Amino acid sequence: MKIIGSLTEISRQAAKWQRQGLKIALVPTMGCLHEGHLSLMRQAAAVADRIIVSIFVNPIQFGPNEDFGSYPRQFQTDCELAEKEGVHAIFSPESKDMYGDSFQTKVHVAKLSEGMCGADRPGHFDGVATVVLKLFHLTLPDFAVFGQKDFQQLAIIRRLVIDLNLKVEIIGCPIVREQDGLAMSSRNKYLLGESRSQALCLSKAIQTARKFVAESQQQVPAATVISQTREIIAQAGGKLEYAVVVNETTLENETIVTPQSMLAIAVKIGGTVRLIDNARLFPEPE
Ligand code: AMP
Repeated sequence: MKIIGSLTEISRQAAKWQRQGLKIALVPTMGCLHEGHLSLMRQAAAVADRIIVSIFVNPIQFGPNEDFGSYPRQFQTDCELAEKEGVHAIFSPESKDMYGDSFQTKVHVAKLSEGMCGADRPGHFDGVATVVLKLFHLTLPDFAVFGQKDFQQLAIIRRLVIDLNLKVEIIGCPIVREQDGLAMSSRNKYLLGESRSQALCLSKAIQTARKFVAESQQQVPAATVISQTREIIAQAGGKLEYAVVVNETTLENETIVTPQSMLAIAVKIGGTVRLIDNARLFPEPE
């Protein structure tokens, strides 16, 4: 497995693979890898000949009061985990190389970036769309693999690819969870003591909503699902940042739960750790 920091070198490597007729899959990450990330690498291996995993804590997607400085970093362990998955190259650039002093271009996917995490984290998705487009240019992927965990991000990237006619196929992968239901996240490392069990309120709210929809004989108003969610989060002592029922593609709010409806929530646990989770509300077809 190659470990590449230089932008020129990753471009050269990707171009070489492309010339050799090898299909490239990119898995963009911020490191601190867990089973969720590894599942994306396995998906990448199933479709492509060469897997590039980027590890880059992207400064421009963090707000001034967010956890850029303290975001968990474990580069050596990440390289070992990726190598075991058969990854061909880790791309881990320096911020100063990605964003020189005169950097001034941002990619803005307008409507899809407005609600949910975009409302709570102004500028976040511009930072994400910008770095993803740069990574695509640098690594020339035929496929790029993202998690459904960041489902607003996935919708934005899909839009970006269509709008800018990018020649990359976006693959979305299901959320990988801990045994007790907590969606895996690098930020779970912040959950100490009581916070860890408190954090279960996200998956509990989602399971409750799915069960309610599955058992309901009539159409379910989104407002009912949202108020049940609020209650579960409040009971657990979490601070709800948002709970929405939205269409999975347009991210527009829905009033009635449909097969395309997603419940998406963001909760602050212990006053500081911001977690997200989501799921389709209708039962999966048999
Ligand atoms: P991050 O390192 O948090 O920026 O995430 C990198 C990629 O891994 C994104 O596409 C995430 O959606 C995905 N990811 C993060 N957590 C999970 C999870 N629990 N299950 C599946 N994919 C995940």
